[in-house]
Order: sequence, then structure tokens, then C-alpha cells
Amino acid sequence: MVAVRRRAVLPVVATFILLAGCQPDGQVAPAATTPVTPVAPVTTSSPTGTPSPPPPPSTSSSSAKPPSSGIVVVLDPGHNGANAKNPAEINRLVPAGRGQTKACNTTGTSTNAGYPEHAFTFDVAKRVGAELEANGIKVVYTRDNDSGVGPCVDKRAEIGNAANATAVVSIHGDGSNSAGAHGFHVETSSPPLNAEQGAPTTKLATVLRDGIRAKGFTTANYIGQNGLFPRPDLGGLNLSTRPAALIECGNMRDAADAATMSSADGRQRYADAIAAAIETYVGA
Ligand code: ZN
Repeated sequence: MVAVRRRAVLPVVATFILLAGCQPDGQVAPAATTPVTPVAPVTTSSPTGTPSPPPPPSTSSSSAKPPSSGIVVVLDPGHNGANAKNPAEINRLVPAGRGQTKACNTTGTSTNAGYPEHAFTFDVAKRVGAELEANGIKVVYTRDNDSGVGPCVDKRAEIGNAANATAVVSIHGDGSNSAGAHGFHVETSSPPLNAEQGAPTTKLATVLRDGIRAKGFTTANYIGQNGLFPRPDLGGLNLSTRPAALIECGNMRDAADAATMSSADGRQRYADAIAAAIETYVGA
């Protein structure tokens, strides 16, 4: 659904109204969050009643770290693969915060060659999640496949809230047709509607911006300031009661950004940068 997502990007002051097409969405992914249950030590006695010797040291060869205590990261891949074929469901209005309603979800953008944003966001999110889980962080996804509808933006926020997420990170790609527009930026709810949308969210966005930039990605030259874009109009961010930020990884209409976003190697680079930044934020 290219038309809805298309953005007129200049002047910057007026852009937040026109940018409404890019919102968090997806489907719940509970299966990926099963924690590893450690095996309890066995304290059996011998048949003669004499105490058993202490159990031998664990010989487990697992390289996975145990879950970091209490750290939960919610990853929210934007849009979903079947959104475009379900306009009635996607266009129904849902609460979006600040007394507003917005469409449940949108279809997202694509590269000029047709690589869709929903596929990009899902692939990057899964790569990020795999890295976090390998470092013992519990990961909850807002959707667990790329062939469903939604979930709506309010439901996505609810998933992060219900998980009591340490951080909620939405992953998107932008779709500006402004000539030369390229680079990534990080969006937050502003003005903040609760304490978590204040300093914690600003810190999350800043750590993400710094971490992604440190891995060689360029901040956007067409929107926001210095890679950050606080805005009042995204329902998924407005409704979050946890630290939450949305990354627009690049402009899918820009040839260079599209080349990176369309390649598995490029998506892994994004994932490496995002995962490292999230780990910095959560202190893992
Ligand atoms: Zn999007």
C-alpha cells in the first residue's frame, strides 16, 4: 500500500501529521519466549539410607547464558504480511492516545523494487531477538510470523505493557520520496504521557541512536534532528507505559538504503547494531 505510506517530508515542522502512515503493528509471538528451565539438583538417598555423595559439577555444554533476571525486551516488527489484503480490519479505528483514534495498522512501504517493509521489519526483529536470547535476555515479539494481520497499534502497546518490558523497540523502514532522503532515525512519544515516556524513553532512543550510528549507519538527513524524532501521533508509542522507541532503519525509497535493507548481510548489520544498543540500555 504505497500510496498511504508515501510521505511528503518537507518542511520538517509539518511532517508529523503526514507521517502518520508508519505505525507499529504485527502479531503476537509467544512461542519464542519459552525460558530455559534449569534442572534442579537431585537429592536422592541411597537404598541403604546413607547420604548420597554431592552431585558432580554440571557438565552441560550449552553455551547459552541463563536468562538475565527480570529483563524482558519486547520487539515490535512493523506492519504485517496480510495487512494489504484485509483493509477493513486494518482500517478500523482504535485508540491511539491523546484522545485520538487511528487506523488499527497500515501496510507499510517497500523499496522501489518491491521488497516490502513488513518483511524487512520481521527479519530484522528475529535477528535482533536471536542475539538478545543468546545473551540470556527474554524476548517477546508482537507478532510471530509475517503472514498475518495486525495486531493493531493499541494491542502492540498492550503487549509491551503486559510484559512489563524493560524496553520496547519497534522496527520499521521509512518511505520518503524526497530526493536524496536517506538514513535512520529513532522516534519517541512526545510530549511524554507518563513517567516511562520521559527520561527512560529518551535514554533508550539516545542509546539506540548512538549505537546504530557507531556501527556505521548514517542518521536521517530529511527528518528529525540528529537521528531523533520525538512526535505526538504514533499510537503504539503513546499508549506505552514502558520505555519505548521506534526505529526507522532507513529510507526504503533511497537506492543505497534500499540496497542495504534488501540484503541479508545488511539486515544482519542492522540487527547487530540494534541488539548491541538494546543490551547497553538494559545493562545486559
Ligand atoms: Zn512502518
